[in-house]
Amino acid sequence: MNLKTLKDLDVKNKRVLVRVDFNVPLEDGKVVDDTRITEALPTINYLREQEAKVILMSHLGRPEGKVVEELRLEPVGHRLAELIDDHVLTLTDCVGEEVQRAVEGMEEGDVVLLENLRFYAAEEENKKEFAHQLAELADVYINDAFGAAHRAHASTEGVAHLIPAAAGLLLEKEIKTLSEVMSDPAKPFVAVIGGAKISTKMGVINKLLEKTDNLLLGGGLANTIVKAAGVEVGKSLVEEEMLAEAKQLSEKKDSKLKIPVDVVVAQEANNTARTRISNINDIKPEEAIFDIGAETIKEYTEIIKKAKTVIWNGPMGMFEQSNFANGTNSVAKAVAEGDNKSVIGGGETLEAVSKLALTDRVSFVSTGGGAMLEFMEKGDLPALEPLKKQDK
Ligand code: ADP
Ligand code: MG
Repeated sequence: MNLKTLKDLDVKNKRVLVRVDFNVPLEDGKVVDDTRITEALPTINYLREQEAKVILMSHLGRPEGKVVEELRLEPVGHRLAELIDDHVLTLTDCVGEEVQRAVEGMEEGDVVLLENLRFYAAEEENKKEFAHQLAELADVYINDAFGAAHRAHASTEGVAHLIPAAAGLLLEKEIKTLSEVMSDPAKPFVAVIGGAKISTKMGVINKLLEKTDNLLLGGGLANTIVKAAGVEVGKSLVEEEMLAEAKQLSEKKDSKLKIPVDVVVAQEANNTARTRISNINDIKPEEAIFDIGAETIKEYTEIIKKAKTVIWNGPMGMFEQSNFANGTNSVAKAVAEGDNKSVIGGGETLEAVSKLALTDRVSFVSTGGGAMLEFMEKGDLPALEPLKKQDK
């Protein structure tokens, strides 16, 4: 994919509006994981070296079009200031006269962070008027928010049509890495997909089935496939409306597509629940599946260890409870220890890998969950459209 990138644009001394993904977890008014902020630093630092006026904007959480005090970006601005060891002016609005005045007062190299974009419903509705208000603040626009690139919102898509626009360094790196993996992976190419819902991942699962040498499924989403194949899954999490599609998938199950042969079951979803490992065909009506079993772990980790390219999204079980974390932890270790190019993405997947202190041993950690899956499936994202180089 041929995107206009930061270095194609003249940003020297310009007012540059940068869409970042600062949708970070907060606790007690503090940023508890600043990965998404640190990942945006190369773009921010480059712009400051070019003596640009850097106007950052992001969403945070789901305020749904109104001001929510807990979702103000002030703590994020505070953390960013520490990271760049300089002043960051965090505003209490993202459009309007006061914002315009603050931007007019900026000097070269200054950094301003606008307030949470989603305090306005017009952001997610991609309203022209709102996009214009954002565009008026700057001379050029940079999109560095890979994690939000699967959404055509005013700040990710609308505004890019209004002033010269290009991809930031993080967005460029994400697209380049994921494109390479999907188009020319070293073989064997193995994908591991888990997590809660099959409805959000069916598209990418079908795509990966074409591309990979092995596709390993686990987590809640495998339950729906198991049930669709006519197997008793008791009280397990199942998406009834996905059973028909899941049945088609279960029929493709062969040496390439793997679903669990055994699972960890319990009657309750907590850490003190009594658990047992059950063959996939022996689950009792009062039990639910919460992890993959020992035999499945052995099969999956052996396949992963032989892979030259691995993509992993989605935990193998309810890993937040230690008695259901074994499958996820074993997969994480196999991915990290293998002699491979490994790509992981997804909020809970990153959390699981980080808990084991294995993040540094993964080749590429994507900042996008939904965006990564959609890009792997479709090879494109709505926010990329206005950033593409026109064929001459
Ligand atoms: P990611 O954020 O990595 O993309 P998902 O959001 O799709 O992952 O899914 C993660 C969630 O799935 C975790 O919170 C985990 O507890 C849940 N989960 C995994 N397996 C099961 C299961 N068998 N039953 C219920 N929940 C599960
Ligand atoms: Mg998640």
